[in-house]
Amino acid sequence: MTRLFFIILIIGGYLASGSAQSPGWADELLNRYDRYKEKSIEDRRFKHAEMAPFITGLSGRSCFEVKERGKSIEGRPIYLVKYGDGPVKVLLWSQMHGDEPTATMALLDLFNFLKADDEYNDLRALIRKELTLYVLPMLNPDGAESFQRRNAIDVDINRDALRLQTPEGKLLKKIRDEVDAEWGFNLHDQSKYNSVGTTSGEATFSFLAPAYDEEKNINEVRKNAMQMISGLNRWLQQYIPGQVGRFDDTFEPRAFGDNMQKWGTRTILIECGGMDGDPEKQKIRRLHFGLFLVAFDAIARKSYEAQSIQSYQELDYNNRRLFDLLIRDAKLVENGKSYTMDLAFSRNENHINSSRNFYYSSSISDMGDLSTHNAYEELFASGYTIEPGKTYPSVVSSYSALKNMNFKDLHSQGYTDVKLSNLPEKKDTDRLPFRVHASNAKTPKNKVRIGENPSFFLVRDGKKEYVVVNGFLYKM
Ligand SMILES: [Zn+2]
Repeated sequence: MTRLFFIILIIGGYLASGSAQSPGWADELLNRYDRYKEKSIEDRRFKHAEMAPFITGLSGRSCFEVKERGKSIEGRPIYLVKYGDGPVKVLLWSQMHGDEPTATMALLDLFNFLKADDEYNDLRALIRKELTLYVLPMLNPDGAESFQRRNAIDVDINRDALRLQTPEGKLLKKIRDEVDAEWGFNLHDQSKYNSVGTTSGEATFSFLAPAYDEEKNINEVRKNAMQMISGLNRWLQQYIPGQVGRFDDTFEPRAFGDNMQKWGTRTILIECGGMDGDPEKQKIRRLHFGLFLVAFDAIARKSYEAQSIQSYQELDYNNRRLFDLLIRDAKLVENGKSYTMDLAFSRNENHINSSRNFYYSSSISDMGDLSTHNAYEELFASGYTIEPGKTYPSVVSSYSALKNMNFKDLHSQGYTDVKLSNLPEKKDTDRLPFRVHASNAKTPKNKVRIGENPSFFLVRDGKKEYVVVNGFLYKM
């Protein structure tokens, strides 16, 4: 195919999309995502100092205007990025919760897209002509610094919309009033353990048109937000069928989303949850990038008006019923009695290296009959008996000596835990099929109880076939 023909195809698709909610160009754009991905940031724990040069570097380029509009408690600049000069004002703010960075990453990709010069110039021109974007990327840079939800004085900025005590919340309110935005995008991450209703699908995205009163009334403003979500959901379902949910719509008088809606800004909450095989949320980031452009297109063409609020109302609510690992129907023997048992593990992230990295420490988060629950990884273990692992009898001198040991042999002899005289960083050991302890630590009992992190084998007909260590399942 010649390049020209290719371009004609794209433009053709773009024009033909008309008022359809899923524009024809969006698929191709996602295929070309790599062109726009900001590759200096590729994991969730990036800091303000890593992002700031990119943002300030936009200033004066391709119709961007960048201004430092405030500072966080610890003095980190908060930027407002402006793009376009159209009549419809759209305000987007990301990462008001410091450990919720997926949308910030997608915004960087969006900026790369907007400053590029290629076959999507028509789309850029449409956005600039119809909309003015006002973007606050990383509203809570201090929270991002320690990868925590709250700001530096431990206030949840999203519960500060009325009292306005945090400089970050105050700034958001000030910008909203100044801009008097018609549309608002409130950008967050949610727990990866949310499923879509009672289905096994993880809620990779959840939406909400926040309520502006206790009665959850629907005025024109909230109705438009619902219509927009109906269209965004329809677009997303092509890529992640069954993985879009609805966030709890209880009115929260102190939250920004709810108040924005009340103040007359059509507000859409977007929550990025989990996705199988995407721990750093890079696949979700890509979809989020597409989502922004689909939304802007819908605003510019007013195509959201053709959407029903019913398909928004039919979205299943989030339901926190997922785990990382679920072993179903195993046999647990205690004091000579045997029990049919489902065991669920959650893998918790522990910060290290000033929260720039993490290691997993897992624990049993539920057990018993978990037939109403699901997990990212499941094993149907009927016929298998749980056998606790043992600790290797002698202390191993070094990490390199440990890594040279034959794990398979040790497993077949029933060992899952080892004591080391020199402990390496935990991040180096969290994915080993062995749990590593200090030489003076208590010998682990590997008891199967909630809150514990037992290592054990799954044994069938006297043969050890699986081993579970630190919440990870290994086939032997
Ligand atoms: Zn949040």
